[in-house]
Amino acid sequence: MDRRQFINDSTKSLTGLYLASLAISSCSKKTSFDMLHAIPETSPYKMKHLRGSVGYFSEKGGTIGWMIDGKNTVIVDTQFPEQATNLMKECQKLSDEKIEYVFNTHHHGDHTSGNVSLKAFTQHFVAHENSIANQKRAAAQKNELDKIVLPEISFKDGYQVKVGKETITCKYFGPAHTNGDSVVHFEHSNVVHMGDLVFNRRFPYIDKASGANIQSWISVNESILKHYDDETIFICGHAAADYQVVIGKEDIRAKINYLERLLEFGNKCIAAGRTAEEVKNSTTVIPGAEQWKGDGIGRSIDAVYLELTSGK
Ligand SMILES: [Zn+2]
Repeated sequence: MDRRQFINDSTKSLTGLYLASLAISSCSKKTSFDMLHAIPETSPYKMKHLRGSVGYFSEKGGTIGWMIDGKNTVIVDTQFPEQATNLMKECQKLSDEKIEYVFNTHHHGDHTSGNVSLKAFTQHFVAHENSIANQKRAAAQKNELDKIVLPEISFKDGYQVKVGKETITCKYFGPAHTNGDSVVHFEHSNVVHMGDLVFNRRFPYIDKASGANIQSWISVNESILKHYDDETIFICGHAAADYQVVIGKEDIRAKINYLERLLEFGNKCIAAGRTAEEVKNSTTVIPGAEQWKGDGIGRSIDAVYLELTSGK
């Protein structure tokens, strides 16, 4: 049985158990993930239950994670205002009109712009201190500080909170896709939202202006493989058309391989005296990581040149 099949099967059986437990639980108000099946195929968004009380929402931008237990709602990342409004409509079918916590895995607009739509319902917004600083800086550059909602709770190494049955633990592993990426673990359901630390088989954005570091990103993803167990379900921010945003450890390993091959390729090109422009114009895949496709290879080439030539 391959990993994806295992996740599918275990998700199905655990979903069954969970729904059975909800039926006899007096504390659940109206949570029934069965209602999610009523969302038509033509809907612009997907709202999927994964395991326990946790699932994901996707429409446009970085995948949103959610925990809904009938009494409490917790959201991870918020896409854009319109998408966050759609998310809220679905959440209200399953729970009360309030959100205990919104976590932002990092500052990028496709993960935080929807904060404004959730503000009226949300008690607390949480993010890593560098994510908040980056969000502020990016908004100030566009003269849009008055249009954003910044988290009021920040942390440096980690943050933990208990909501209903869930213990939610955020952890900072170091610079990677930016210098402020955190990983959010719903421990009871054993589901992790890892933000943009994996672009599944899609060329990643490596945000050097916000402190991204390819070498450190490899170590961060290796630490994640060690820190979470083999039953953990991981949600990532983005995936190529034929791939999923719900991933397993083999997909994280594949991402590490992409970053390692990118550094190797960058070193070879620089040693051969090739310019970044020349390499960008003649390269469609990174040798040894051919599964990574689509637009945006130029961003990887620029980032690896900057890191290897300036040490930044
Ligand atoms: Zn991002």
